[in-house]
Amino acid sequence: MARIVMKFGGTSVADLDRIRNVAARVKREVELGNEVAVVVSAMSGVTNTLVKYCQDLSPLHDQREYDAVVATGENVTAGLTAIALQTIGVEARSFAGWQIPLVTDDAHGKARIDSIDGAVLIAHMQAGRVPVVAGFQGIGPDNRVTTLGRGGSDTSAVALAAALKADRCDIYTDVDGVYTTDPRIVPRARKLAKIAYEEMLELASVGAKVLQTRSVELAMKERVRVQVLSSFGDETGASLPGTMVVDEEEIMEKALVAGIAYSRDEAKITVRRVPDRPGIAAAIFGPLSDANVNVDMIVQNVSADSTTDLTFTIGRTDLPRAQAVLAAHRGEIGYSELLCDPEVAKISVVGVGMRSHAGVARTMFSALAAKGINIQVISTSEIKVSVLIGAEYTELAVRALHTAYGLDAVS
Ligand code: ASP
Ligand code: MG
Repeated sequence: MARIVMKFGGTSVADLDRIRNVAARVKREVELGNEVAVVVSAMSGVTNTLVKYCQDLSPLHDQREYDAVVATGENVTAGLTAIALQTIGVEARSFAGWQIPLVTDDAHGKARIDSIDGAVLIAHMQAGRVPVVAGFQGIGPDNRVTTLGRGGSDTSAVALAAALKADRCDIYTDVDGVYTTDPRIVPRARKLAKIAYEEMLELASVGAKVLQTRSVELAMKERVRVQVLSSFGDETGASLPGTMVVDEEEIMEKALVAGIAYSRDEAKITVRRVPDRPGIAAAIFGPLSDANVNVDMIVQNVSADSTTDLTFTIGRTDLPRAQAVLAAHRGEIGYSELLCDPEVAKISVVGVGMRSHAGVARTMFSALAAKGINIQVISTSEIKVSVLIGAEYTELAVRALHTAYGLDAVS
C-alpha cells in the first residue's frame, strides 16, 4: 500500500468526460489498495476568464477580491470530481483550501504556504474516503482566501504530499513526461525516465513549462518524489511510466546534459557608454529592481576610454517599464544610448553531470558556430550553460545542440 497525491491540471479536467476519466484513474489507484488524495486545477481556460473579469472591471482591483474570484475555478472542479468519484462507487468529498486548512501568508495573488494541517485529510483517507482538494488556493492570516500564483496547483499538490508524508506525488498533465527538449522542435527528443530535482528546477526556470518552478523548489526541499505523467493515455495506462523527479543520488548514469530548454520570453538591453566607476551597476539595477523588473543575464564589456557597455536581459513584457525607468534615471547613470532588442532567445543546456566534466560549454559553442549562429550573451551556473541568440535561430540551435550532446533517439 502506498499513499499517493494525484494532481490533475486544467486540460485533464477540461470537461465532464475528462473528469470522468480522472475519476476512473483515481478509482484504479484506490482499488490497488492505495490511500489517495486528489488535487485539481480549474477547468482549462477558466482561470484566464476569471482573471480577465477582474482586469476588465478595474485594472487596479483589490488583490484580496481578485483571489476571492480566481480561486473559485478550483472549487468547481473539486466538487465535480468528488461527484464523479461517488458516481462510480468511490467515497469522496471536496475540500477548499480553508477547510484543510492550507495556511498561507497574505501576499495575495502570489501567496506562500506557511503550513498545512494534514490530520483531517489523513483521517478521511484512513477511513477509505478520497479527499479532493481545490489546488491553487489557501487561507491567509487575515482569514481571507489567497492564491499561490499562476500554475500554483502544482505547488499545492507537492506541499500536500509533503504534509501527508505521501510516497509519491503524481502530476497528471497533457504531456507524458519530461523530454530532453521540446518534441515539437525535435521529433527525436526522448522522454526521460528520471531527472534530478536540480535539473528540473533549472529547466523549469529557463522555459520548460511542465511544472511550476516553485513546486520543484518545494519538492527538492521536502524530498517529495514527483512523477510527471499524462492523463491522456488509454485506460490500460499506456502512457506509464512518466518521468520521476528524484534525488540526484538515485540516478545511476548521470547524463552530461539531461535537457535543452529555450525561452523566447526575454528581451536584451544594452546601456551604451556608461562611466566605468564604482556605483554604476547599482545605479542601473537598483531602480530596475525597485520597479520589480527581474534581470537575468548580465555582461559588462572591458572599458575603453573609461566608459563601458553593459548588456542584460529581462522579461520581454517588462521591456517598456525598464525603458521608462532607465530613461528616468539617465542623469545618474550617464549613458550615451539605450539599445533594446526583443528579438532574442535564450537557449540553456542543463545537466548535473557537468559538475564533474569539462567541455560542455565548448561543445555548445562549437555546435552553434558550425551553424553560423552568433552568441550575444553567455551565463553559467554549476549545472547550466545559457546563451542568448537571435530569436530566428531558436529551432536551429535547439536541434543542433540536441544532436551535439548525443540526445537524439536512435530510430
Ligand atoms: N488554475 C490556476 C492557473 O491556471 C492554477 C493551476 O492551474 O495550476 O494558473
Ligand atoms: Mg500547470
